[in-house]
Amino acid sequence: MPNDPVTPGGSPTPYDAQLPEVTYPKTIVGQPALVTGAASGIGKATALGLARAGADVVVNYDGDAAPAEDVAHQIEAMGGRAIAIMADVSKEDDVTAMFAKAVDHFGTLHIVVSNAGLQRDSPFEQMTLEQWNMVIGVNLTGQFLCARAATREFKRRGVDAKLSVAAGKIICMSSVHQEIPWAGHANYASSKGGVMLLMKSIAQELAPHRIRVNSVAPGAIRTPINTSAWSTPEAYAELMRLVPYKRIGEPDDIARAVAWLASDAADYITGATLFVDGGMTLYPGFATGG
Ligand code: NAD
Repeated sequence: MPNDPVTPGGSPTPYDAQLPEVTYPKTIVGQPALVTGAASGIGKATALGLARAGADVVVNYDGDAAPAEDVAHQIEAMGGRAIAIMADVSKEDDVTAMFAKAVDHFGTLHIVVSNAGLQRDSPFEQMTLEQWNMVIGVNLTGQFLCARAATREFKRRGVDAKLSVAAGKIICMSSVHQEIPWAGHANYASSKGGVMLLMKSIAQELAPHRIRVNSVAPGAIRTPINTSAWSTPEAYAELMRLVPYKRIGEPDDIARAVAWLASDAADYITGATLFVDGGMTLYPGFATGG
């Protein structure tokens, strides 16, 4: 898939020209996958990437249906199967209804990517309880609700050896901020730190059931959630101080990692976080200092 053509300042950076052509090996053919928050950004690229790798896809969205329907139509145009389902992942009834609808439509689910997330940034002393609860509710409780619903379905079905050696795969969209503290974003960093131990705890618990649970932790990816960090040349240059690999990540960089983790090629991997961050977690300030 070609990379997002949007570039800072409207002109290509030297690195945009070097992005690799993206191909998806057909490693998850016929496996139904559900991706939350799949109408934009990383979730959209992941839904399309999993479809390219052969999966049938539930495109979850919250809000306007049109962008999610568009993703589903793109998948169908590639010859895949897709359905868009509305659900607020922070609401138990919505998540229960979404999984019921997904299983009704595709028969089961093999892959669940808990990607939906948001930010409500604020200096700490001004952070409202509403801002705190909103971020924890979507980014952490939403992951709990979706992982629990996925677990119930995976255990109900068990291993279907025709499709995968595992009973199911859960992939949590975390962030480098599960590790890097982030001033002005205490709610967001707390939610992602919580995702890390949620993921590890349930990976340990579910491994005997052949359910693999892993996280992908993106660095700075060019999506609507962080437009201010890349949409002007000044902001982009500032961002590059934090990225040793000296280019912003594209949604497809994340989608490819998710598709691989979801495949049997990654069968012995559970409880792991795969950082896809151009080296952002390598303490770039120490490249010249320290
Ligand atoms: P985005 O804003 O494009 O995507 C987030 C999606 O989640 C949106 O489609 C939004 O509608 C959906 N969403 C929000 N609340 C929801 C809810 N209650 N129920 C269902 N869907 C809901 O931004 P993105 O960058 O693609 O973010 C996707 C994930 O990646 C998030 O979890 C984010 O924390 C994580 N992430 C992004 C970056 C980055 O640099 N872009 C870095 C690290 C982690």
